[in-house]
Amino acid sequence: MTDRKERLEVRKKLFDRVRRAVVKVGSGVLTYDQGLNAKVIKRLAREVSILMDQGYEVILVSSGAIASGMKKMNMAKRPSDIPHKQAAAAIGQPRLMLEYEKSFAHYQKKVAQILLTRDDLCNRRRYLNARNTINVLLNWKIVPIINENDTVVVEELKFGDNDNLSAMITHLMDAQLLINLTDIDGFYDKDPAAHKDALLIPLVSRIDRGMEKAACNIPGTFGMGGMSSKIQTAKKVTTSGIPMVIAGGLKPNILKRLFEGRDIGTLFLPKKEKMGSRKCWIAFTLKAKGTIKVDRGAVKAIHKDGRSLLPIGILDVEGDFGVGAAVGCIGPDGVPFARGLVNYNATDIRKLRGLKTNQIKQRLGYKYYNEVIHRDNLVITTDDKEGAICR
Ligand code: GLU
Repeated sequence: MTDRKERLEVRKKLFDRVRRAVVKVGSGVLTYDQGLNAKVIKRLAREVSILMDQGYEVILVSSGAIASGMKKMNMAKRPSDIPHKQAAAAIGQPRLMLEYEKSFAHYQKKVAQILLTRDDLCNRRRYLNARNTINVLLNWKIVPIINENDTVVVEELKFGDNDNLSAMITHLMDAQLLINLTDIDGFYDKDPAAHKDALLIPLVSRIDRGMEKAACNIPGTFGMGGMSSKIQTAKKVTTSGIPMVIAGGLKPNILKRLFEGRDIGTLFLPKKEKMGSRKCWIAFTLKAKGTIKVDRGAVKAIHKDGRSLLPIGILDVEGDFGVGAAVGCIGPDGVPFARGLVNYNATDIRKLRGLKTNQIKQRLGYKYYNEVIHRDNLVITTDDKEGAICR
């Protein structure tokens, strides 16, 4: 769909449904040579405040802690080792919040800092607790400003980057839109910094392999995920039925113009049905602890007919996980297509491979469930042959 009029109609329809939006702002937008860019933060605060006064709920996911800390410590290069990065974040985060606090105060708005690790969101109780807290803040008309808790996080518990974190927050808070503000105006077919003829793609209805490859060649400022992690984020968010926009955060009135329905940046269209919040949590927040390979019949039963995973369809099990763990399901060809929470541990599932449900008790000496993964705990993570979106 390239017709501008049509695109404007699509935008209007999608934006009309938005009451709550997550706005992710990258380090490349918030910082410049001299450290934090106070002018940009002020502008952002003004735009978010206007949206709030219009009745929208806005949650900010803000990078900038490490970059700000680096500048304060006169580091020319992003540190490569973790303790130095964590120390830079510890220095930069309060500075970042101070700038936000001052800027929002100008518009009679208060801010709240929320620092999270992936571990917080993988634990269902803490996940729900974070949601309740952010809901209270939104009811109080306070701006939640979320960042990864860089100072304490260990590598295995990292979100990866704030693009990924913003997808999880969009799911956590049931937002109807994710806006990713970056220092590039949107998604281009090649790196606009290196190619004068690079073309901005205004609307994406389906992310294909070609786009993913093109995105890999568009790096980000400060060595973070770049366009590639934005495209992966768009895949997750749109698969769960939520639209996402990538737009230039350095452009004045960017949020205002987006909410007016202007044809700017790149809009990624959502899949038709919206996925429930719990299923999003299973598919996009939890880390898979292992893999179950299933036969063609099970792929069809799960993918096409929405059935549970039974022992009879299981070919192989990889990993060592306990009851309740999230695992990925792959087809006989090795292509991931679903993710779910298991009713048995890895050792027992290995014993159950290929058995009928009436053989479970005899084989294990006990039986909790007929299903290895019940369909209520099973989420399809791909809608095509291109592969799944969970990493
Ligand atoms: N949490 C990091 C910071 O505040 C940024 C991570 C990212 O931008 O992806 O510096």
